[in-house]
Amino acid sequence: SKYAEIISIGDEILYGQTLDTNSHWISGRLDEIGIKVRRKITIGDEREEILNTLKESTERADIILVTGGLGPTRDDLTKPLLAEYFGVGLKMNDEAFEHIRTIFEKRGREVTELNRMQAELPENCIKIDNKLGTAPGMWFEENGTVYVSMPGVPYEMEGMMNDIILPKLKEKFTGGVIYHKIVKTVGIGESALAEKIVDWEDHLPKSIKLAYLPTFGQVKLRLTALGDDRAHLEKEVGKEVEKLIPQIASYVYGYDNDELEKVVGDILLKNNKSIAFAESCTGGYISHLMTKVPGSSQYYKGSIVSYDYDVKVNSLDVDRKVMEEKGAVSEEVVLQMARSVRSKLGADVGISVSGIAGPGGGTEEKPVGTVWIGYSDEQKTVAKKFNFSKDRNVNIKLSALCALNMLRI
Ligand code: ATP
Ligand code: MG
Repeated sequence: SKYAEIISIGDEILYGQTLDTNSHWISGRLDEIGIKVRRKITIGDEREEILNTLKESTERADIILVTGGLGPTRDDLTKPLLAEYFGVGLKMNDEAFEHIRTIFEKRGREVTELNRMQAELPENCIKIDNKLGTAPGMWFEENGTVYVSMPGVPYEMEGMMNDIILPKLKEKFTGGVIYHKIVKTVGIGESALAEKIVDWEDHLPKSIKLAYLPTFGQVKLRLTALGDDRAHLEKEVGKEVEKLIPQIASYVYGYDNDELEKVVGDILLKNNKSIAFAESCTGGYISHLMTKVPGSSQYYKGSIVSYDYDVKVNSLDVDRKVMEEKGAVSEEVVLQMARSVRSKLGADVGISVSGIAGPGGGTEEKPVGTVWIGYSDEQKTVAKKFNFSKDRNVNIKLSALCALNMLRI
C-alpha cells in the first residue's frame, strides 16, 4: 500500500479561525481507494515552513497532497514556493487564463494583474482544472513521488479531487486496499471488553490491526488489514471476527454503519412487535432516536414524556404514595411507568426511564447519574439500575442508549 501525507496551509487554521475540514475529507477519500494517510500537517503561510515541510514529507511519503494558499493575494505563497522547491520557473498557462477570463466576464468584471498571475503555473506541473473557482490545481511528479496542490476552499478542492485527482491516484497506485471491519458493542467498558478478549487479541495475525474506539457507552472494535485483494482481506478478517463474536456476543449489536436504534427497529420488525416509551430524564430524546429511522412507524407507537410528578401520576397512573416514599427515580416507579405506557399506547413492549441527569438533584443515596430503566412485555416486567456520570448531557445519552439496549437483553 502507498503512503500519503496531507499538508494544510493557512494562517487562519493555526489561529483557530478555520477548522481544517479539508484533510479530514481527503483522508476519508484516500482510505476508500486504499491509500494510507500517515501524517497530516498544518502550517501557516510561511516560506520556511512550506519549503521545509515539502522536503520532509518527500522523505516519508509516496503521495503529498497540499491544500490552501493558492489565492491571488500576496499572503498566498504555495505556488511560487512549489516552483522554487522544484527549481523551475512560472509560466503563463493560456488555458488557465482563458478560464479565469471567462469567469470574470460572466461576473462582468475586469481581469486584474493579480488574477492574471493565477494563470501562471510552475513549468513542471500538469494543470488540474478548477470548474468551481479561478485557481487551477497542480499535479507534479518527481522521483516517483506525486505532489498535488489544491485550493483551500473546500468545495473547490472536493470538486477537483472527485473529478480528476482521485481517479488519477487510483489509476497510478492501483490495487491498494485498506479493509476495515467494525464490531459495535454496547453496555461494556473499554477495559472490561479488552479483558474478555485478551487471548483472542494475542492470537490475532500481525497483518490485522485492532483498535478500540470508545464513544458514549459504546465501544467499537475496528479490525484493519492492508493488502491488494479485497476479497482475500475480507475473508481473513472475517475469520477473526467469527472467533471473536462468541466471546462478547451479548454486547455486540451490529457492524460497520449499523446504529442501535435501527438494529432495535429491525428486531421489532422481525418479531412483529411494537414499542412505546415513558421518558423522564431523557425528555423525548429516545423518541427522537426512534423516529430518525425511516419506516419506524411500523413498530414505534410513541412516547409519554412524563417529566413532572403530576404527569407521571395523571398520564401514567404512577402511584403518588409510592413516588413520595421511594422517589421518582426508583425501581417501583419505572416498573409502573413501563407497564402503564405499554398498555396505554397499545404496544407489545414498554420501556421507561427515570434518572437524575444533574447537575443538581443528587443525594448521597442517589447521586447524579443514577438512572432506573424499566422494561415490560407480555411475559415480564423488570427494571435495572445504572450509575452513569456527573455530566447531564452524557447521562441523557447513556440513558437513551441503555433504554434501547433493554430490548436486546
Ligand atoms: P482561492 O484560490 O480560491 O483563493 P486558496 O487556495 O487561496 O483559494 P485559502 O485562501 O487558503 O485558499 O483559503 C480559502 C478559504 O478556504 C478560506 O475561507 C479558508 O478558511 C478555507 N480553507 C482553507 N484551508 C482550509 C482547510 N484545510 N479546511 C477547511 N477550510 C479551509
Ligand atoms: Mg490562505
